[in-house]
Amino acid sequence: MKYFYLSGKFLPPGQAKISIMTHAFNYGTAVFEGIRAYWNPVQKQLYLFRLKDHYKRMQTSSKALNLARPFDLDKMCAMTLKLLRKNRVKQNVYIRPICFQARLGIAAKKTGESGFGMFLLALKSSSQSPRPLRVLLSSWRRIDSKMIPSYGKLSGTYVNSFLAGQEASHSRFDEAIMLNLDGSVAEATGMNVFILKNKQVITPPLSANILPGITRDSIMKIAKPELGLKVLERSISKNELMSAEEVFLTGTGSEIVPVGSVNGKKIFDGKIGPVTKSLGSLYLGIVRGELARYANWLTPVY
Ligand code: PMP
Repeated sequence: MKYFYLSGKFLPPGQAKISIMTHAFNYGTAVFEGIRAYWNPVQKQLYLFRLKDHYKRMQTSSKALNLARPFDLDKMCAMTLKLLRKNRVKQNVYIRPICFQARLGIAAKKTGESGFGMFLLALKSSSQSPRPLRVLLSSWRRIDSKMIPSYGKLSGTYVNSFLAGQEASHSRFDEAIMLNLDGSVAEATGMNVFILKNKQVITPPLSANILPGITRDSIMKIAKPELGLKVLERSISKNELMSAEEVFLTGTGSEIVPVGSVNGKKIFDGKIGPVTKSLGSLYLGIVRGELARYANWLTPVY
């Protein structure tokens, strides 16, 4: 990519830098988003998926941290479009806007102005023929909202995901799912969890300390009209997860990801279940702009 954005300027990536003294770098006081844009080669169009919803969540995250917001919602959306156009993007990309406590120095309690930056990178779509993941139930529990607001995408919270992810990869698993302190299923390190049971698609409620995923919300909105499946938000126990008919994970970066086993116990014989497969291909059709009925979720860039 030719340009990133930082504090009012579009800069070459090597020049988009912050000081080592920055509050956010020292204390994790930043909020961020992960947004995808999909290139449709037939329509010769780049589509941002649920752009405004991502910035709405970023505003909620900023409020949770008392971060001053440098721009309003519409300006953030406009800046994102400008960044994509300046880079003449014609491929699938991942965009990372980040708003951070920009104060310099060691005073952890003091606040100051916010900085705002955006970088982007090429990111292929992974759902085409995804490999079912071998998932570990982590010994780390998901951060409780009584400690840090779990509904926000706060940089510091990701230490929790990092620890669970490291534990999984050290034991040669692909991904980790974290439980809550009460033993119920929370989420994966950067994805929400769904199970399939008796034609019902079930996912933990927001009260289960999960990040309100935008992919999760999209799946909840398409499962009934597209596949006639009932959608339920309710607490999921560890045993229910391990004995589910299908398990899949959802997230902007990873899309719809089948789970082939949990702690070595196979789910759907280690293969991709039909519901996971259908939802995955529907999702890909929607984000690429192939299903006109979901066009209101897309922002064309050109
Ligand atoms: N949980 C966590 C902890 C995440 O980081 C993400 C990725 N943003 C998700 C869930 C999925 O959210 P979304 O579908 O909005 O990408």
